[in-house]
This record gives sequence, structure tokens and C-alpha cells, in this order.
Amino acid sequence: MTKRFDVTSGTELRCKGWRQEALLRLLENVLAVGEDPENLVVYAALGRAARDWPSHDAIVHALKTMDEDESLIVQSGKPIGVMKTQKNAPLCIMANCNMVGQWAKAENFYEWEKDNLICWGGLTAGDWQYIGSQGVIQGTYEIFSRIAERHFDGELHGRFILTAGLGGMGGAQPLAGTMANAAILTVEVDPERITKRMEIGFLQHQAKDLDEALAMIREAQEKKQPVSVGLCANAAEVYPEILRRGIVPDVVTDQTSAHDLVYGYVPHTRTLEDARSLRADHKGILMKESRESIAQHVRAMVEFQKRGAVVFDNGNLIRTHAKEGGVEDAFDIPIFTEAFLRPLFCRAIGPYRWIALSNDPQDIAKIDEFLMERFPDNKIVTNWITLAREYVPFEGLPARIAWLGHGERTELALAVNEMVRNGELSGPIAFTRDHLDAGAMAHPNIMTENLLDGSDAIADWPLLNAMISCSSMADLVAIHSGGGGYSGYMTSAGITVVADGTDAAAQRLEHSITNDTSLGVMRYADAGYDEARDEAEIKDIGWLAVGADA
Ligand code: NAD
Repeated sequence: MTKRFDVTSGTELRCKGWRQEALLRLLENVLAVGEDPENLVVYAALGRAARDWPSHDAIVHALKTMDEDESLIVQSGKPIGVMKTQKNAPLCIMANCNMVGQWAKAENFYEWEKDNLICWGGLTAGDWQYIGSQGVIQGTYEIFSRIAERHFDGELHGRFILTAGLGGMGGAQPLAGTMANAAILTVEVDPERITKRMEIGFLQHQAKDLDEALAMIREAQEKKQPVSVGLCANAAEVYPEILRRGIVPDVVTDQTSAHDLVYGYVPHTRTLEDARSLRADHKGILMKESRESIAQHVRAMVEFQKRGAVVFDNGNLIRTHAKEGGVEDAFDIPIFTEAFLRPLFCRAIGPYRWIALSNDPQDIAKIDEFLMERFPDNKIVTNWITLAREYVPFEGLPARIAWLGHGERTELALAVNEMVRNGELSGPIAFTRDHLDAGAMAHPNIMTENLLDGSDAIADWPLLNAMISCSSMADLVAIHSGGGGYSGYMTSAGITVVADGTDAAAQRLEHSITNDTSLGVMRYADAGYDEARDEAEIKDIGWLAVGADA
């Protein structure tokens, strides 16, 4: 069984070309690094790589047999057909979990999922872009760094971060915390997740109980040493208990799968096993108890904020469900995007990734070196690459994430394509990014909350992003909407482009990556952000500025 989830190494092709082979390797990779690959679940409770195993096998067969002038069509993780298109068309287009507005509700999603009509692709699961916890680690690190700059004189030494959730994405928190020099306590209800994060080097210690956990944190604070501690417990109980003891952490957040009240969040009224056993047939009970438990969890977060902690929502809808559960002031807690990252997104600086398809870590090391030499003045990138080289272990295919902006991303991709062409790298490199990126996501409680022009819930942008990506010859283009508890909350788009060292790849990379970030800058310029308008002008991206003077 384990063999099924290995990644492929080397340069021998099983498909008719590198573009198809790249997508196949990326599909294998999301399963190799995923949380529950037997059930095709990659991360975020229910984010799947394919609808079911027959769909998975049919996708693999299609990728192995299709020609370069054909396109594979995937609907919610199920391959529907292979059509003759042309060599410059995407090899694969996907629409995952898009439901018609009034019907886009969690209850309908669960029903249709049970009937095998739909599946949720998360952001990067269904379109095979997930690279393990590393994919979110720089984002989490950047948030901690911004908090350090804004609230703690640039320094998190001796500071206590309290958080929860050690899943696919949340598992990045302890490492991001120690990289930022903090003492970080992560509460996690599932002991297996704690073991996994320790095994892969993202978490240092597990405490046997809260007393021991707090003692370890206190000692690290006194010595001003970074430390990460995991505690197997329910956050809805631990947060209020820490409050009761009169302890106020410096920073508080949460990354449990609070978005999904059935398959994600575990209410404190249930053991993990109990909650799992109720999932199939007692969704209503779990939804009610999870909402109540989240309310208790978030009340403690709001109280921490009142007592002076820096508290933020890290993109899991925890405030939304708390408000539904009666916590009227849940939205006093800011969302991380608005609080810390929006100025970066205005310049299309966001989570850009590349993956070494031949499984050679040296390829990533060489690209790291190129980045350090080419962008010495970009402190976000040089600081990150220095830290990532030292601290971030690879999972699955070697990969790197770095927050690069408009122009920089294209320049890197084209340079790497040249490195593939001239044999400096062992094999082709795939370029992709998170959906949580400037032009690619509408999510009014996460990415686009409180936009200047009020366009938070307008989903035209990700749809335009996908269309321009197809026109710009990206190799894979996907439109995703929320599933489970995210149903009705988000629409986003993903792209993957393969640098295989050919002229055609150079064209695809140049157009699709440039247009992706151009649209990101335009999206924020159109919403009225000066940083984006300046960037649009300086970089001459073709923004028409209609109504900008109004
Ligand atoms: P996951 O399902 O892999 O992991 C969630 C973890 O939370 C699980 O290990 C689960 O056991 C634990 N958990 C659930 N209820 C708990 C409770 N009451 N107390 C303690 N632990 C509990 O999910 P993930 O991929 O880690 O994502 C976590 C959340 O972050 C999701 O809502 C996801 O959508 C969101 N997310 C945010 C970003 C971002 O950019 N900020 C990125 C990706 C995902």
C-alpha cells in the first residue's frame, strides 16, 4: 500500500512528454505528502487529490496516454474526457467543487459528496500543487515577522505564541514559530499528528500535560530561546484554562480545521474517536457541538485580545462559526491577510513555489543560490532562503516556496527554464503558487475581507484569473470553490506551468506567470490600494485605471 504513495525519481518518462509526466508526478507527490492518502485526502480535513480511486486511476491512465495537443477535463476530481485542443492549450483544466450560489451550503456539499457527485479540492490538493507543510510555512513565518516588527521591536525572543492544529497546514506553525525565535505552544487533539510533525522535524517536543507545556514555554521565555511544544488536548478547553490561570500569551491564533464542523473540528464534548464515529450519520449533532465548542474557543481568544495579546484569525473561518455560535464580538479579531499581508499582495508578492520533478534536492539548492545572487536586495527572499535552507526539511519531491512578486516570478521561471535547457539541473521544474494569492481568490472572510471598495465577495477575479491563465498557455488551470464548511465562502484559481527547458515552455512561463501577477496587481489597484496603483504604474502592467480618479 505504501508503495502507491511514493514519488518518482529520475528523468525516465512514463508519458508522451514532460508536461504530462510533470502533472503525473505532482499528483503522486500530493499523495506522498498528504495527510490521509488512502482516502485521497491531502490536507484541510477533506481536501482530496481525486474523487475516488477509479477516478485517480483514470487520471493516471489519461496522463500516460494523452498527446501534447490534447486537454484532460476534470470535474470535482473525476476525469471526464480527453479532448483535442492544441499544443499551446493547457494539458489539464479542472473545475472542483463549484456549486450554484443559493445551493452552496455545507449540508448540500455533504449530501452530494456522499452521492459521489462532487469532491473538495482544497486549494492545492485537487490540482496537485500541495508541497507539504512547507507550502504554508513562509506565510506563517512572514505573519510572525510582521507581528514582531509591529508589536515587539522586531524581536520575538522571549515571546509566547499560543496556537492549535498540527495538520497539513497547521503543522507548519511550530517550525515557523521557532524560525521567528519565539516559544510556541501548539494544541492538537490527534496524537498521530503530533508524532508526524515531530518525525518530519517541524515540532521539537511533546509535553505530557498543560503544566509541563507551560513550564517548558516559561523556561524558554526566560532564557530567550526558541522552542516548539506540542500538547495533545482540545484547544477549546486549553485556551480558557490558560486564561483562568491568568497567563496572557503574546500572540494567539488557531489553525484547527475549524472551517469544517463535521470532518475538521473536534468539539471538546467528544473524544476524537467519538467525533469520528458520528461523522457519517450524525452530522447535525456534530455541527451543533462544534459550533458551541468553537464559541468557547473564540471567547477565550477575544478575551486574550482584550488583555493585550496580538490575536488573529489564520484563515480557518473560526470567527465565522463562533459568530454563528453567539460570539457577537468574534470579528474584533482581525484576519491575517488584512492585518499583515495585504501590502504584499498589492504588489502581487505571494506564495510562489517550484518543485524539482526529478526528485533531486540539488536542483532546489541551485535555484536557492540563483535567487540569493539575483535578488540580494530583496530581504524577504534572502532572509527566507537562508532560514529555509537551514530549517525546512523536504517532504516528497524537493520543493521551495518564496514570496516573490510581479516580474521577479517570471524572471526566476525563465532563468530556471534556461538552467534545465543547459543541463545545470537534473530535470524539469514545475512552477505553481497557492490559490491564496493576489488575483486568484475571492474569500470574504479570509483573503478579501474589508477591501477598500467593498468588493470582498465578488468572485469575478479568480474566474478571470483562470481564463487568462488558459489564454496564456499554463499547463494546468483549475477553478475551485469551497466544500464542507467552506461551501459558499470562497472561489479561487490555481495554475501550474512546467519549465522543461524548451522554447515553448519559456513562452508558457513568460505569459502565464506574468499575466497571473499582473492581474493580481490590477485587482488591488482596482480596489483602490495606492501600493497596487504605484506598482501598476512603475511596472507598466497595462492597467486601464478606469474610474481610478473618481
Ligand atoms: P488538517 O485537517 O490537516 O488539520 C487540522 C488539525 O486540527 C487536525 O490535526 C485536527 O486533529 C486538529 N483539531 C481539530 N479540532 C481541534 C481542537 N478542537 N483542538 C485541537 N486540535 C484540533 O487541516 P490543515 O491543512 O492543517 O488546515 C487547518 C486550517 O487552516 C483549515 O481550516 C484550512 O482551511 C486553513 N488554512 C489556512 C491557510 C492560510 O494560508 N492561513 C492555508 C491553508 C489552510
